[in-house]
Amino acid sequence: MRQEALKSLFPIMVERRRYLHRHPELSFKEQKTSAYVADVLTKLGIDIIVGVGGNGIIGTIRGQLPGKTVALRADMDALPIQDEKTCDYASQVPGVMHACGHDGHTAVLLAVAEYFSARKEALHGEIRLLFQPAEEVCPGGALSMIEAGALDGVDVIYGVHLWTPIPVGTAASRPGPLMASTDEFFIELSGRGGHGGMPHAAIDSVVAGAALVMQLQSIVSRSVNPLDPAVVTIGSIHGGTAQNVIADTCRLAGTVRCFHEETRQRIRERIEQLAQGTAQAYGAGVSIEYMTGYPSLVNHQPEFERFEQIAAKEAGLAVELSAQIMPAEDFAYYLQRVPGCFMLVGAGNPEKNATYPHHHPKFDIDEDAMLHAAGLLIAMAQAFQSDRQ
Ligand code: MN
Repeated sequence: MRQEALKSLFPIMVERRRYLHRHPELSFKEQKTSAYVADVLTKLGIDIIVGVGGNGIIGTIRGQLPGKTVALRADMDALPIQDEKTCDYASQVPGVMHACGHDGHTAVLLAVAEYFSARKEALHGEIRLLFQPAEEVCPGGALSMIEAGALDGVDVIYGVHLWTPIPVGTAASRPGPLMASTDEFFIELSGRGGHGGMPHAAIDSVVAGAALVMQLQSIVSRSVNPLDPAVVTIGSIHGGTAQNVIADTCRLAGTVRCFHEETRQRIRERIEQLAQGTAQAYGAGVSIEYMTGYPSLVNHQPEFERFEQIAAKEAGLAVELSAQIMPAEDFAYYLQRVPGCFMLVGAGNPEKNATYPHHHPKFDIDEDAMLHAAGLLIAMAQAFQSDRQ
């Protein structure tokens, strides 16, 4: 019955996803997308609060039967990428594109909203719809949604990501840490500039910087448990202006990814120690700017187990245990506060050109995955409610 009902919602899901795909908006600028979502929800007779934490929307569907509160989340923002697809629903906004499938997430949650709002007499408890802005750019939209009360009274939360690396018809997740934390750091070494032929009268910030790049490589290899995946990448190093001038300053920028909070703290400490120690060893000064991004996304064991059962039994999907993956997700903030599970729904299909990785200029999904994602969210919410009766 659920599948039949969803199938009848599929054409409108595709239409909405393609409309959003043509009209993408960058993080923190999702005004039109937000207005579009608000319009659909209002027409469905769903109570909404708009302007939550920026362009976010909270929708509430109250069932006529007693029960708990289940939050379901979709992100709505696009990326600063030029769409290179040639299909009729390619982006009409130069330099902006839904290259991560958030258009699909929005269309999926609207279909879920339509499904539940038509069945309030059979619905237990409350469905809290979270249409979140700004997932792609730190500090993200999740925290401000939470500060505005998005999780007040929520018992459990579920979210999906349409995912092209796995084939349509599959779903994957993992108990515990699924996605990495992501931090950024900027280090400036200040020496004393001088003549390239007279190094003894100068303090060479480039030599100190080069040494520091190598020192930082010892963090993952020597200070982190080999069974605990972590990355320290120096993505940029800049110092100097000419071949015969000793550079006054050298700047390094990098990113840190890992899965455990203790590891994250340990890496940060080691970066700071090595930067200070190396600067001192070369007689240079140092300033360090460390910016924490999203925490690791950690699924709750019982909710992961529910996913394993429900995705196969109720949503008809082939279930895979996902490997840990290094991209970050601000859904992590919700899971720090309430139990829940984040689930990857297979959207890859070579027959439909859905083979490109996320954030690629030709990224596309197999739209059938939206049907699977909506079915999975609905089935998870229903299973949680019937467990608590
Ligand atoms: Mn994404």
